Amino acid sequence: MNNALVQAYSDCRLCPRNCGVNRNLGELGYCKENSQLRISSADLHFGEEPPITGKGGSGTIFITGCNLGCLFCQNWDISISGKGRIISEKELTETFLRLQRAGAENINLVTPTHATPVLINGLIAARKKGLSIPALWNSSAYENAETLSMFEGSIDIWLPDLKTLDSSISDKYFNAPDYPEAAEKAVLYMLDNSELRYNSKGALLSGVVIRHLALPGHMDASRKVLQWFAKHARNRALLSLLTQYTPNHRVYSKNCPGRYISREESADLLRWVKELKIENGFFQGRNLKLI
Ligand code: SF4
Repeated sequence: MNNALVQAYSDCRLCPRNCGVNRNLGELGYCKENSQLRISSADLHFGEEPPITGKGGSGTIFITGCNLGCLFCQNWDISISGKGRIISEKELTETFLRLQRAGAENINLVTPTHATPVLINGLIAARKKGLSIPALWNSSAYENAETLSMFEGSIDIWLPDLKTLDSSISDKYFNAPDYPEAAEKAVLYMLDNSELRYNSKGALLSGVVIRHLALPGHMDASRKVLQWFAKHARNRALLSLLTQYTPNHRVYSKNCPGRYISREESADLLRWVKELKIENGFFQGRNLKLI
């Protein structure tokens, strides 16, 4: 175990919330998790972008808790309501290896930011025992670039969801007015530290896939994200533009958009993608299309 990593829980500033709590003593920060890792599930998943799903599926581990806490989260039972069970570092290592034996193309860590030390330790231990498939960081992008530098090459594929560059939206829906600044720095770090590489069957070995979930009624904000992608990432990353925002029972009480993306909004997004000459990625609504 890398104790220097675990020490980071003692005065936790792993993410921009900078809570400063001692999670090793059981204190909870904004993410509502102490230093014990909890997961909700660990299985093959076939619904990710094609170069992530590949033929064998993505070995997806849903981690309990979240440092961002979007009000409209589709996985709110795991991220906000705390569904999950404690898993030891040894069992985590075994889980990585089990997913590899089951044919997974990668280890897909969903909402991992608040659990960085234990996940990185688990990956290092699993590599020593034969884990050879890529590790994928599937995050909200609300990260400290300094925390990402703790990874020492443990992560191969970055899958940040660049949610918005508009601080009034991030304040309203994530209680994080600093989200745009933090996410921009984090995604630039990812871009600077990885390049797109594929295996012979078209599955990703390394690189960055930037997701963006468009919010109904906030198309100007989505346009800003697309412009950012065109400027900083067009030739360095894949875009995954998501239009399947789904209002759940929580959104009505939280003042979040209470409807789906309209046809007109969806058409606008596709038009902007073309105008900005973004040619590498995916457009996901009910069906997935190549851009
Ligand atoms: S990881 Fe959790 S406890 Fe640590 S700074 Fe972020 S929200 Fe706070």
